[in-house]
Amino acid sequence: MRTAILEAARRNRVLGALPPEELCRVSTSLRLQFLPRGAQLHEQGRPVAQVYFPVGCVVAALQVMRDGRSAQAATIGSEGVVGLGALSRVDGAAVRTVVQIAGEALCATAAELRGLRDESPALAERLQRYQRFLLTQVMRAVGCNQLHSLSQRLCRHLLALRDASGADVLAITQEFLAEMLGSQRPRINRLVKQLEEAGALRRRRGELIITDVAKLERGACDCHLALREEFERLMVP
Ligand SMILES: [Zn+2]
Repeated sequence: MRTAILEAARRNRVLGALPPEELCRVSTSLRLQFLPRGAQLHEQGRPVAQVYFPVGCVVAALQVMRDGRSAQAATIGSEGVVGLGALSRVDGAAVRTVVQIAGEALCATAAELRGLRDESPALAERLQRYQRFLLTQVMRAVGCNQLHSLSQRLCRHLLALRDASGADVLAITQEFLAEMLGSQRPRINRLVKQLEEAGALRRRRGELIITDVAKLERGACDCHLALREEFERLMVP
């Protein structure tokens, strides 16, 4: 089991860049867990009990309004960490986090993560760098939601899901996409159909299959590329 955890830890971009001996030490406190689609990991404003390092699942960070509507602030996959509010004892979760694509994650309790961070300067730096990237992603979402069209944001979101999951086949429904993009399902259905007619993707029951990445990139706003460059700058050793 320990070997499986170590191998999984290498697939997460925050953990995978740790020096080998630090990675070994940190991984002894982590547990591998399967997260089903739709599982809610954190509730906005509530204490963060567990922290997750995705190694196959993709998690949406949602900003929830008082009337119950929500919009996506960030997409977190194997490049990141879910539940960074755990780093501070006083903060509740800033967002609601929901599993968007089912898969595995390595998890630790909030107290365990704080302990690991205090003992490992290399992990502390990786977490700090990722926190900075996440802040950039959230700030970018503010501009994107205001300035870019729904069609551009849909393409961008599909590319982000592809990056975060490492797969062209995305097990997501159009209803879920509408929720993530804060839009109506008929509008999303129309846009997905247009993308299918243009040859960018194919629809299958409960799945979208990306068939032409270049076409999606041409349809997306520049946020996708800007964030990818920022990730490389901050997180690639
Ligand atoms: Zn944008």
